Amino acid sequence: MHELSLSSAIVNTVVKHAAGRRVSAVELRVGRLRQVVPDTLEFYFEFVARDSVCEGARLELEVVDARLRCRPCGVEWEIEIPAFRCPTCGGSDVEIASGNEFEVESIEVEEAECIAPK
Ligand SMILES: [Zn+2]
Repeated sequence: MHELSLSSAIVNTVVKHAAGRRVSAVELRVGRLRQVVPDTLEFYFEFVARDSVCEGARLELEVVDARLRCRPCGVEWEIEIPAFRCPTCGGSDVEIASGNEFEVESIEVEEAECIAPK
C-alpha cells in the first residue's frame, strides 16, 4: 500500500503543475532507500491517474543509488547494504547523501489544440 500513497502524491503534484494541460509523461527520481517496487508503482499510478490529466501518462522511473557521506572528511560512497561507516577515515559520523529521493523530476504536457474563435 506504500506505492498507492506514493502514486497519489505523484498525481497530486503533477496535476497541480500541469494546470489543466494533458500530461503525456512523468519522470520520477526514486531513491533506493525508498524500497519502491517499480511495477507496483506503475500499477497504482495508472489507477490513481484515471480521470485526471495524468490518465495514460508514461511513468519514467530513475532509481537513485543510496550514498553516504562522511561529515568530517566529506567523502561519499555508494552502499549496497547499510554499512554506516566511512571507508576512507573509518569515522561513523555520517549522513545520508542520497537514496531517499522521491521527487517528480519533470513532466511532459501536450500543447493545447488551437481552436479558432468564430
Ligand atoms: Zn571520513
